[in-house]
Amino acid sequence: KCIIDAKNIVKIYQNGAEELKVLDDISIQVFQSDFTAILGPSGSGKSTLMNILGCLDLPTAGQYYLDGMDVLKARDNELAEIRNQKIGFVFQKFNLMPRLSAIQNVMLPLLYRGVNEKEAGETAKEKLSRLGLGDRLQHRPNELSGGQQQRVAIARAIAGNPPLILADEPTGNLDSKSSKDAMEIFRELNSEGNTIVIITHDVEVAEEVKKIFYIRDGKIYSDGG
Ligand code: ADP
Ligand code: ADP
Repeated sequence: KCIIDAKNIVKIYQNGAEELKVLDDISIQVFQSDFTAILGPSGSGKSTLMNILGCLDLPTAGQYYLDGMDVLKARDNELAEIRNQKIGFVFQKFNLMPRLSAIQNVMLPLLYRGVNEKEAGETAKEKLSRLGLGDRLQHRPNELSGGQQQRVAIARAIAGNPPLILADEPTGNLDSKSSKDAMEIFRELNSEGNTIVIITHDVEVAEEVKKIFYIRDGKIYSDGG
């Protein structure tokens, strides 16, 4: 089953009179249970591609089907809905809500989806416990280490069992031990069938996954291709 099916994606930014083609005819497919990295240097177009794959921005041209949904046919309010239903995001800076506890952070996307408070609480507790944070449920982000915060963010991303986990430089703010732990968590989640795409400039991170797409100057190359 194809989770990401993006074809001939072009993104052009207008810089005054100048056009900057940041993504140049990118096609990429990610299948269910894939463990994939998109690897590229700074300025290669990773953030731009991440925003498009994450339904945060629209391409200038191309086609994008996410878990069978035609993303480019969606209206703005439907894009938010698609994001919420289809994608669990993990960010470099964790993006946790600072005033909410760990368990409340993980409950949030479930409550958005209409899951009731009790069930959301139980699911959040279960996800946090399996990521080794069973004794940190009531802690706020600033009471947790970076590695712990990223595990809260991963628990939040998987809470609703989305078809896609999309991680943008997930180890970018972590020390090497916490990075290894986070990659180990991704590996385990993938072995349970989760589809994971990691966007990174870090070769060591990319070496942990099963398939690498290389992005350079807005063009994409797959393993050996
Ligand atoms: P990366 O994440 O790999 O560093 P980006 O996607 O952020 O790459 O940027 C790719 C190129 O597009 C860079 O040259 C950047 O300056 C340019 N760029 C990114 N966003 C915009 C924007 N909103 N307007 C104009 N240029 C942009
Ligand atoms: P990252 O560290 O994730 O690659 P960047 O520093 O490339 O992020 O970009 C941060 C934000 O600024 C992004 O939202 C990107 O779209 C925007 N941006 C990057 N380059 C430009 C640019 N030349 N003009 C306008 N916006 C830009």
